[in-house]
Amino acid sequence: KPSVIITIGMAGSGKTTFVQRINSYLQSLDPPKPPYIVNLDPAVTNTPFDSNIDIRDTVNYKEVMSQYNLGPNGGILTALNLFTTKFDQVLSLVEKRAETLDHIILDTPGQIEIFTWSASGAIITDAVAASLPTVVAYIIDTPRTTAPATFMSNMLYACSILYKTKLPFILVFNKTDVQPHQFALDWMQDFEAFQAALASHSASRDSDGEPTYMNSLMNSMSLVLDEFYQHLKAVGVSSMTGDGIKEFFDAVEASREEYEKEYLPELKRVQ
Ligand code: GDP
Ligand code: MG
Repeated sequence: KPSVIITIGMAGSGKTTFVQRINSYLQSLDPPKPPYIVNLDPAVTNTPFDSNIDIRDTVNYKEVMSQYNLGPNGGILTALNLFTTKFDQVLSLVEKRAETLDHIILDTPGQIEIFTWSASGAIITDAVAASLPTVVAYIIDTPRTTAPATFMSNMLYACSILYKTKLPFILVFNKTDVQPHQFALDWMQDFEAFQAALASHSASRDSDGEPTYMNSLMNSMSLVLDEFYQHLKAVGVSSMTGDGIKEFFDAVEASREEYEKEYLPELKRVQ
């Protein structure tokens, strides 16, 4: 059975570039293992890869915008909703090819919330996860997440997606060609290192010498995150140079076992 990789991440984190990079990595293997790519971003102007299924072939989000009198985000969301009504057809196409495939990759809309907080995103995620081993690849713009407060808000976002989907989860620190991700690993492994970074980046005491609201909030949230980190894998990659892609696929293999041991039994239990 193939594994499904769902790429999720903030706009500009590099999801599409990452999909292109893992595509070319899989194509370059001997023998080549071309993946099956599904583009779910109706607003992307050009994808650097050939998708097997492309939402843009089914719906034109600009027409959707004018027809329903919507702004860009409303247009993208409505396009995704329309596409989702046909997702059973997508699944049956994928299932027909399943024998010959090792990986199915989903690229999602630029704006993260359109996929993660919409009914369509949940329907698509649950549908693929019910039929095939699935993993979430959460793409992070590493150079833009070096400030402790930004890092924490990004991790809390990841945390909320993990608890919503309950799927195996890989944190992909992207753009390591610009900024190595070691600082992130240090913060994730050593709670005190993160608190020290927090303290040096923000006013930790107010004028009366009391800890600031922000600082104590962040300290208690970082305790929650400590628990969250136990449940996931983290890799650093450069979608530009291809660095770390092999390690990413090692994490995908490990996630497959996690899917079978943890996600699947729970799915069967609730059904
Ligand atoms: P998406 O909105 O998440 O799909 O992001 P894109 O894939 O469109 O990438 C956003 C920007 O980040 C583009 O300018 C990419 O060239 C750039 N980018 C993506 N991955 C990398 C990387 O690994 N290194 C560098 N330096 N830039 C990258
Ligand atoms: Mg994109």
